[in-house]
Amino acid sequence: KMIEQMDKEYVLHTYARNYVNFKKGINATLFDENDKDYIDFTSGIAVCSVGHGNKRVADKIYEQICNITHISNLYAIEPQAKLAKKLHELSGYDIRTFFSNSGAEANEGAIKIARKYGETKFANKRYKVITLEHSFHGRTITTVKATGQSSMHTPNFAPYPDGFSYHNKIDDIYNSIDNETVAVMIELVQGEGGVQPFDKKEIQELAKFLKEREILLIIDEVQTGVFRTGEFLAANLYEIQPDIVTLAKGLGGGVPIGAVMTTLKDIFSPGDHGSTFGGNYLVTTAALEVLDILEEIKDSGELDETIIYFNKKLNEIYENNKDIFTDNVGLGLMRGLRVKDADTLALVIKTAFEYGVLVLKAGKNTLRLLPALTISKEEINEGFKRLENALDKIKQG
Ligand code: PLP
Repeated sequence: KMIEQMDKEYVLHTYARNYVNFKKGINATLFDENDKDYIDFTSGIAVCSVGHGNKRVADKIYEQICNITHISNLYAIEPQAKLAKKLHELSGYDIRTFFSNSGAEANEGAIKIARKYGETKFANKRYKVITLEHSFHGRTITTVKATGQSSMHTPNFAPYPDGFSYHNKIDDIYNSIDNETVAVMIELVQGEGGVQPFDKKEIQELAKFLKEREILLIIDEVQTGVFRTGEFLAANLYEIQPDIVTLAKGLGGGVPIGAVMTTLKDIFSPGDHGSTFGGNYLVTTAALEVLDILEEIKDSGELDETIIYFNKKLNEIYENNKDIFTDNVGLGLMRGLRVKDADTLALVIKTAFEYGVLVLKAGKNTLRLLPALTISKEEINEGFKRLENALDKIKQG
């Protein structure tokens, strides 16, 4: 009760909050102040990629912050340089990276790169960025405008920057390109929009078309990146060569870090872009350890096994509850079950919570599951058992 009162009194009301007080986390299990446990199928919306309370990451952070937490980007930062090298290696792309503090800020960086490319590369000024309906790119004024959801373009925050248009499907992008278009920005699996993966061939054709016209392809991997779909980047899975990729969420395992990576290695000069906190000792040290852990479970085959096991259990729930679910969508550990209507979805999320399993919503009618990539078989079994019990309760009315 006290936390609820304080929160309501002193925190701006931007979220419809659930007043549970989590005190402890172990991998994909959370404990509230009454020691009730919850299986976490959300991982803080795809952030806690290596689970809660990860000892290896905690130890590295502790060791680092006992020494230096922050210096500023006026000096070279060893873990930042190492992390940039690691991203270069893991992505398989010949890229350089700028570090930001969030996904929206990474996408701002991507748009600035595209704008500078458009200003300096062509005889005429090119600045238009094409995005897709149901996309989500962030909450800053510019990334809100890039987001293809008209409900987010409220007059409350107008005027928005020019140069953004969004389209219903990949096919519609071709006709909307003109000689002022500088980039196309997309998610390969739309996260907030409903966990909707695009067709691989369709994306490969688009990538080829854009490359021939020297129009940049920006892949927003804020949600899909860092092994969420099974590969380091969803772009690796789709076998495309983007010009710009953005990351955030899972990269830091919970510390705020974003990244914009580009093959336009010399696009920026000192003064073009910056961030006080971006890529400091704390966050890049954490991210290096997160990537080490994830690389280990990828190389050992454990991650692929977890994906197969999770999706087997998920499919059982889907098949057993066709009266509630209408489709099973997603890639890797970024999963969605379409629910027959929005009211039922709200009831599923609420009842699941009561039964001790945390799940998310995406779009209007998608139940979204984004577990930690380190989730154990026992946690998967227990989480789906609780979800099944919650669904039984709903069916009993
Ligand atoms: N892009 C995508 C695809 C996202 O899913 C999100 C967050 O949900 C963002 C950008 C914004 O990231 P942040 O909330 O870290 O600014």
